[in-house]
Amino acid sequence: MAAADPSSSKSDLNRRLREIVRCPICLDDLRNPKLLSCLHSFCLQCLQQHWEAEKRGAKVECPVCWKRLLIPIAGLDALTDNFLLKDLIDARDASNMDLEKKFGELEENATEFEDLERSMCYENSLFVRNTNSVSTSLSL
Ligand SMILES: [Zn+2]
Ligand SMILES: [Zn+2]
Repeated sequence: MAAADPSSSKSDLNRRLREIVRCPICLDDLRNPKLLSCLHSFCLQCLQQHWEAEKRGAKVECPVCWKRLLIPIAGLDALTDNFLLKDLIDARDASNMDLEKKFGELEENATEFEDLERSMCYENSLFVRNTNSVSTSLSL
């Protein structure tokens, strides 16, 4: 029994994730994912373009499985949002940006530390000057 290579299983997961969150029309990440009654999801913008010529309430077919469905009378906006896929994309983006974000935070903290150090040095020098003047006045 071969041990699973953790790095390859992670890239495999990323690849599968990319397929899951991919819009079948634009082949890009879903934006405003809308869920059809057949459970296929597409970007709202892609559906709007795809069914541009169709009227509200018109019978259309899912671009993937050709299942018949109706364009909502309230328009494509009224289709169910696929929050699950949206969250999945957000979560993936967040984990991808995690490292970049951490580095960004480190840099921010570094400048804060510099400022803090500078102000502490300033206060210290004031303190030193004060104690000096106190000791001088005392020795007099
Ligand atoms: Zn799309
Ligand atoms: Zn479908």
